Formats: sequence, C-alpha cells, structure tokens
Amino acid sequence: MNRRHFLKLITAIALYSPFVRSSNKNLKIVVIGAGIIGTFIAYELSKYGIDVTLIDKNKPGSGTSGSSFNWVNATYPKKPYSYNYFAQLGINSYKNLLKEIDISIEWNGSLEWFNLRQDQLDLLNEISQLMNYPTHTKHEIINSEQANILEPSINFNNNKNIVYSKDDGTINTRELINLLIKSIKINGGKVITECEYKKLNFYKTNISSVSTSLGNIDANKVVFACGIDTNSLLSKNYLIKPTPGVIIKSKPYKKIINKIIVGPGIHFYQQSNGQIIIGEQGSISITDAKSLKNRLERFSSRSIEMNYLNKIRSMGGEFFEDIFDLEIDEVSIGWRPIPIDGKPIIGRLDHNPNIYLATMHSGISLGPLVGSLVARELVQDTEIPVLENFRPSRFD
Ligand SMILES: Cc1cc2nc3c(=O)[nH]c(=O)nc-3n(C[C@H](O)[C@H](O)[C@H](O)COP(=O)(O)OP(=O)(O)OC[C@H]3O[C@@H](n4cnc5c(N)ncnc54)[C@H](O)[C@@H]3O)c2cc1C
Repeated sequence: MNRRHFLKLITAIALYSPFVRSSNKNLKIVVIGAGIIGTFIAYELSKYGIDVTLIDKNKPGSGTSGSSFNWVNATYPKKPYSYNYFAQLGINSYKNLLKEIDISIEWNGSLEWFNLRQDQLDLLNEISQLMNYPTHTKHEIINSEQANILEPSINFNNNKNIVYSKDDGTINTRELINLLIKSIKINGGKVITECEYKKLNFYKTNISSVSTSLGNIDANKVVFACGIDTNSLLSKNYLIKPTPGVIIKSKPYKKIINKIIVGPGIHFYQQSNGQIIIGEQGSISITDAKSLKNRLERFSSRSIEMNYLNKIRSMGGEFFEDIFDLEIDEVSIGWRPIPIDGKPIIGRLDHNPNIYLATMHSGISLGPLVGSLVARELVQDTEIPVLENFRPSRFD
C-alpha cells in the first residue's frame, strides 16, 4: 500500500463513529436504486457500520447516473438561494470525499456564452442575480481575448461577456459508483444487482421486510433512491415526466480542451483520458421524437443517430472546428428525474417516517452531500436544518 492510499484509509477509519455503530445495531436499511444518490447513501450508512443492503433492478449506474454529463457545479440555474447554497455545499463534499476515495475530479471551471443578443443579456442578468446571493461560487466576466488564453481552440466570436465559473468540476460517475460499491462491500454492506423492488411488508405498522424479484430482504427502514421510477414506486407525482438528454463520448483525442465549454447549443469538456464528452441543450426535441418512446437509452436506428450527430457537429463546428475530426465512441440517452418544483426532494414520508425518499436533478453535483446528510438523519434519528427546504411533505 502506498503512502497516499494509507493516509486515505486512516482518514476513512477516523470518520467512523463507534458510538453510533453500537447504538444502531438493530437498524436494517434497504436502499432501492444504485445510481449516484442511492450508492452514496448506502456508502455513508456502511461507514457507520449499519446493516445496509443496496439493491438495483439492473446494474449500479445503469440509470440516469450512467448517462449524465457529470458536471459538478453551483451555477445560476440552481435557484433559489437555498438550492444554490446546497449545491455550494455539494462542491465542498466532493473535496472532502477526495480524502476517502481515490477518484480524480477535474476542477477546471466552465466558460459560457451565447451568440443571440437576448440570450446573452439573460445570461448576464442571471449572473448578476447569482452574485447578489449571500454566498456563491467564484464567477468572473471575461472577454474573448482572455477566454482564448484559457481555451485557444475555441472561437468565442469576439464576445465581450463570457462567464467564467471557476469552481466547477467534472467527475467520471460510472467509475465513482464502482469505487463506492467496492467500499460498501469492504465496510460490510451488501449490494444486490438485478434485484427489483416489488413492495414493502409490515408487521403491525412497522416495516418488516422488502419484497424483491429475488425474495424478501429484512428491513426496518427503506430509502427510495430510484430516480425516474419514483412516481410509480411511491404512487405519487413528485416528478414531472422525465426529459431526455443525449451524451456523446468521443474516442480519446489529442489534448485540446481545458475547461467545460458551454457554447451555443452544445456543451463539452475533455476527460483526462482524452475522451471529449458532449451534451446538448434541448435539440433532442427536434430529433425524431418518435424514436424515443419507451425511454430508450440508445437511438432506435443508426440513421437517426447519424442525423443527430450531424446536427451536433454543425452546431459545435461554429465555434469548435475539431469537432469534425472526433471519432465517436458512444451515444447514450439519459432521462432526467426532475421534481415538479425543480428542487431536490429529500426526507421521510409523513405517513411513515421509516420510509425515506431522495430524488433530484443535479444528482451528480449533490451526491456526496446528500449521502452524508441522509445517512446522518437515518442513523441519528435527527432532522438536519439545511434539508428543511427540500422535504417531500411540500407535495402533500
Ligand atoms: C443528459 C443528462 C445530463 C445530466 N447532466 C448533469 C450534470 O452535468 N450534473 C448534474 O449534477 N446532474 C446532471 N444530470 C442529472 C443527474 O444525472 C441525475 O440527477 C442523477 O443521475 C440522478 O441519480 P439517481 O441516483 O437519483 O438516479 P439513477 O441514476 O437513475 O438511479 C436510480 C436507480 O434506481 C434503480 N431502480 C429503479 N426502480 C427500481 C426498482 N423497482 N427496484 C430496484 N431498483 C430500481 C434504477 O435501475 C437506477 O439504477 C444529467 C442528466 C441527464 C439525463
């Protein structure tokens, strides 16, 4: 074991609380959904030594988390302030996580601008509102010459007001989930894949077990972290109809992009392995929507995919010529779990406090924060004030 790994192990051990461990030996918690949210919750519970079982109807990371753009930020779309502040804490949680888990996070910042005058004015207006919050991440408005020093391969079209958001980062979510799963198992937790939740079983009014496609699992508390399946599993409308977003991954390419580029129509960044990850801003709605029935995770035919890729190339080519030279490795369609009012939904359900719900858009930005707060609420049987704005009871 090298020194870096050894120090991480020591820090991780120091974070465990033997007191909590002994006072909760009767807790049996099943977490439903091994996306970023459920996996972080199970990971934090396993650190307390709780009897935790994480289940997924498919494989870990096979839901939205595996098809995400993976941008960690507290930028202007996260509003009001309570949500933005929560996302700021999310960034801090990632920095703390680095002491425990050997994951690389690229804290490169983002550059955003629009070509259309009105869109650009709206962007600046959003940024000035953000700057008026009591706390916010570091933002600076720079011109195209300054932006080109940071990003020589991008044509900023002489824009004088490019938003440089310095604290933003990107992660490799699939890799992170796999690392967390390993740690859950090392900590004594269980992870069961291809195990579909069916229903809860009760003894009098208490949860006694969870019925799954693989049989019953004993439990006295259950966490629903099932993303876009939340409404159907809980028989209630917490989320709007999921919206699709396409993520394109290139094959490794020469090092050319330093920051997260949020340009007109598309956004992208380059991972340390050379792959360029591209997301789009809504153009899928004008792609063959028929091909997206049944929430497919891939386009239904190669020709539809090619049409789509050509559209993305022509939009991106306006300001990033190298996009025409990229070889494509993977095209996936992700479905966003979006709460009706846009804000995270985190907390116990009123009709049974042993049922806990955690679902949100921005799950990548918030994963480690949500994991540690939810685990604390469950284990210490407490209510953490910073979560008060996000309770499921607002939908009652
Ligand atoms: C294209 C796109 C780009 C995005 N970009 C970003 C971004 O840059 N930054 C950001 O912060 N967020 C982003 N998001 C949002 C983010 O990806 C999601 O908020 C996050 O992945 C949700 O994680 P989750 O764990 O709640 O859900 P999921 O990852 O969907 O996990 C839920 C899991 O529950 C399982 N499940 C469901 N039903 C059952 C059942 N009955 N039994 C057992 N298991 C079940 C599913 O199989 C799934 O694995 C993006 C989303 C999309 C689609």
